[in-house]
Amino acid sequence: MRSPDADVAVVGLGAFGAAALWRLAAAGVDVVGLDRFAPGHGFGSSHGGTRMFRTACLEHPDLVPLALRSRQLWRELGDAAGERLFEPTGGVLIGPRHGHVVAGTIAAAARHGLDVEVWDAATVRARLPRHAGLCDHHGAVWEAGAGLIAPEAAIRAAVAVAARLGARVHSGTRVDGVELVAGGALVRTADDVLRVRQVVVAAGAWLPTLLPDLPLRVLRVPITWFRAADPAATGAYGLADVPVFIRELDDGTCLWGHGVHGGDELKLGLEDRGGLMREMDPDGDDRRVTPDDWSPLVRRLDRALPGLAAAPSRAAVCMYPMTPDRQFLLGRPGGDPRLVVAGGDSGHGFKHATGIGEVVSDLICGRTPQVPVAFMHPDRW
Ligand SMILES: Cc1cc2nc3c(=O)[nH]c(=O)nc-3n(C[C@H](O)[C@H](O)[C@H](O)COP(=O)(O)OP(=O)(O)OC[C@H]3O[C@@H](n4cnc5c(N)ncnc54)[C@H](O)[C@@H]3O)c2cc1C
Repeated sequence: MRSPDADVAVVGLGAFGAAALWRLAAAGVDVVGLDRFAPGHGFGSSHGGTRMFRTACLEHPDLVPLALRSRQLWRELGDAAGERLFEPTGGVLIGPRHGHVVAGTIAAAARHGLDVEVWDAATVRARLPRHAGLCDHHGAVWEAGAGLIAPEAAIRAAVAVAARLGARVHSGTRVDGVELVAGGALVRTADDVLRVRQVVVAAGAWLPTLLPDLPLRVLRVPITWFRAADPAATGAYGLADVPVFIRELDDGTCLWGHGVHGGDELKLGLEDRGGLMREMDPDGDDRRVTPDDWSPLVRRLDRALPGLAAAPSRAAVCMYPMTPDRQFLLGRPGGDPRLVVAGGDSGHGFKHATGIGEVVSDLICGRTPQVPVAFMHPDRW
């Protein structure tokens, strides 16, 4: 290969790619980042105003060190950008005491010595009265260090800080192909071919268009915000009234959400749409939210969070690029020294984005990551 245009290209500057760009630039790497849209756009998996952060990750015990490191890095990124990107609000995981949410969270916290409180049903009723329909076999785990991150602002901050550190950024530039060649990779856009020694592909829901062999399904996920049915109750859904939560119901489905500053509405979702999620083409036009999207959620609210309007006040469509085991894809497929993949977020990746960015930078620079990563390796199947 003739002399490269940059040492490293990062394709996709969403949550994972923007964080990788920042950590690579902070490590002094000659890096260029490309995204088909502008940083903080609303077409991928990183829009909707908030993402919930917690360290007691029930999704996999080895995610806890990644979450702890990510929280430090979110603060560091906020300091570098002069913005408060992480807002600690406290968070609660509610459900049957032996169900996967409460028991899984307690197990993750115990294994890593995290500071959490375990509540019985009476304590949940007293502390969080908006959560209704609790039975005595329910309980909760309270994590005071949980909170919210503003995804669009965080991505813009990561890209801006990376650019300040010397990264070159091409937004509004779609990558049409990534080709691995002797000594490096070619990154093809409509107008150019960029030659780099290593390429990071962090294209979110579009990963399969660039690397079709990865085991990913792209699922359509509606996000909804609800107001109180009774206008007199407006203001009742502040962050202290309904802090960040995941709530497992007796039918095994999970609600997630949180109140907002001012308390005028609740952001709410039903994980997996109660088992009714469908695949979507990220370039298709399936972005209109209809009653069919929110009815499985609304059916469950009467009992769990009564008093809300029967239809959302706002809604949007987002995507989960889902792997078979719901863990991320992070590493070098086939051990290839020219390629790192960061994606397959499976709906729980934002909180970890800064830690993932650091792992990417470690892999690119030939350093051993400081957190466990084997369970996310793209070849684990
Ligand atoms: C509704 C919803 C709620 C969620 N809630 C939470 C939560 O509370 N907590 C949590 O931790 N996680 C949550 N997640 C998951 C989290 O948002 C994702 O893990 C994270 O946003 C994934 O980031 P990403 O970088 O992989 O994808 P994206 O942020 O979508 O980035 C991919 C980028 O690649 C770019 N791109 C794609 N193809 C190309 C190309 N060919 N050329 C150039 N650029 C390209 C895209 O434009 C995009 O900017 C949620 C997800 C959804 C959908």
